[in-house]
Amino acid sequence: MILENITMPEYERGLLDSRTVIIPFGSLEEHGAHLPLCTDTLQVVEVCRRAAERTGAHLAPAVPYGVCRSTRNHPGTVGIGTATLRALALDLVRDFYRQGMRAFALVSGHAGKTHLLTLVDAGEQLLEELPGASISVVSEYHEMQRAGAALVEARDDSHAGEIETSRVLALQPELVQGTSPPEWPTFPEARLVRDKLRHWPGGVWGDPSRASAEKGRRLMEIAVERLVELVRELENGGETTGGDELP
Ligand SMILES: [Zn+2]
Repeated sequence: MILENITMPEYERGLLDSRTVIIPFGSLEEHGAHLPLCTDTLQVVEVCRRAAERTGAHLAPAVPYGVCRSTRNHPGTVGIGTATLRALALDLVRDFYRQGMRAFALVSGHAGKTHLLTLVDAGEQLLEELPGASISVVSEYHEMQRAGAALVEARDDSHAGEIETSRVLALQPELVQGTSPPEWPTFPEARLVRDKLRHWPGGVWGDPSRASAEKGRRLMEIAVERLVELVRELENGGETTGGDELP
């Protein structure tokens, strides 16, 4: 059930069928010279929508901003801080709980490390606060990247590369403007850098030229299957998942 489209009585009736809500988290972030700023949001909303359809869970409206560190100086990246993301996650889950939901899947399309750890941190606090709640924090991107590894040709493919370009080609090809040169950033191992553009000028991590819509369709399906499994596990097990899987 898509929550933003239903009425008050439909919400009430819907709780009789499912008390699970899937909340997608996206970003407004550069994705090279060829993909739209909404790339993460576009992917996560579609994965969550299909998973909600298959599991009968409720789909919440997406949070379209995230915590973006390494791309923050690239034109077009507009993000929020960790305190804001944490507060948003806490408030949304608490209010859905007050409105009768008991299982919560916080699904991120943006795979930034700080962003994901902030969601995990909020999830841990919510587990302590809300009796009977089960919570999952998961990067649908990492799940799909792992499960779909055999389909990907480019080495170390990540941001705006073969995978994401394929998925946007499958979802909204009119938003893809050609391609960008292959690129792998050169950030130092441990030192934090002020001039992020110097280490990552093009904002691509991987090789978008290997992308295809067909690959994107298959990767999307893998992401949906993985999320369906996670939602079922969440509904049956009632334990947090996701936190240990972050890189
Ligand atoms: Zn992305």
